[in-house]
Amino acid sequence: MTDNVKSQLIIILDTNPVWWGHKPSSHTKAQQKMTLTECLNSVMVFAHSHLMMNHSNKLAIIAAHSDQSVFLYPKNDPTVHVISEADEVTEGTDGKYELFNQVDKQIKEGIKNLIDNCMNGQLYPDSLVAGALAMALCHINKTERSHEEAGILSSRILVIKGSEDNTEQYMNLMNAVFTAQKQNVVIDACVLDNESGLLQQACDITGGIYLKIPQMKGLLQYLMWVFLPDPLERPKLTLPPKVQVDYRAACFCHRNLIDIGYVCSVCLSIFCAFSPICGTCQTTFKIFGPPKGVKKKSKKLG
Ligand SMILES: [Zn+2]
Ligand SMILES: [Zn+2]
Repeated sequence: MTDNVKSQLIIILDTNPVWWGHKPSSHTKAQQKMTLTECLNSVMVFAHSHLMMNHSNKLAIIAAHSDQSVFLYPKNDPTVHVISEADEVTEGTDGKYELFNQVDKQIKEGIKNLIDNCMNGQLYPDSLVAGALAMALCHINKTERSHEEAGILSSRILVIKGSEDNTEQYMNLMNAVFTAQKQNVVIDACVLDNESGLLQQACDITGGIYLKIPQMKGLLQYLMWVFLPDPLERPKLTLPPKVQVDYRAACFCHRNLIDIGYVCSVCLSIFCAFSPICGTCQTTFKIFGPPKGVKKKSKKLG
């Protein structure tokens, strides 16, 4: 990597309490499920490794929870510069690099607050990944702009997810994905449990890696080997082969994933059943029935 390219990593961690609290007994594979604490430890080591690759590398971690998405690090979003100031502090009291202490402390506090607060609210089995992606993109936009004079900042997003997809988020997620594609932001996905058709599409569109890890206990190894190298370095590596992407779209009427549907010729909305009026843009379709005479006429002309 050239010296003036810095790498920014945004980790979106699925902290859904329903999925993390769920006993793995229902799964036939019965592989040992890791706890959220074990997962956090792996993510923190991975985050340290990213920061160690280059001392100007940037990091942000967002928790995608069941009812909200929050920045775990950096704690106050506007204090992006605190990271670079902290770079100057070399060693903490226990000999640990001070920046790592800060990262770990903020992540742990953030998770604790999330878990404490969510006991009052309602719990959903899916996480707000689309919202977290939008937050990540805003953060990237801001940091890249404020970083312009200091060289190029290459940003990528890694989603670590275990809970199920929610097709209700299809529209928002796709909007975020196409924005990422426009901004040249790669989206990677490290899937812990349920295959995610939506993330498969997100990775395919932005040129990222989608990997459903075969063993949850090996999370750290997969993170280090597959997701640590910057996208610029990846062509030199032998990485897991591309997955077959589930390219079904969700219909706008029921948010079901469908193979074949009806598309409005004006606004390109997708519907699972025919309706004479487009539910999105209110266009009225004229129905003439199948064009019977067309073939005969064209033959005569020819
Ligand atoms: Zn429908
Ligand atoms: Zn329409």
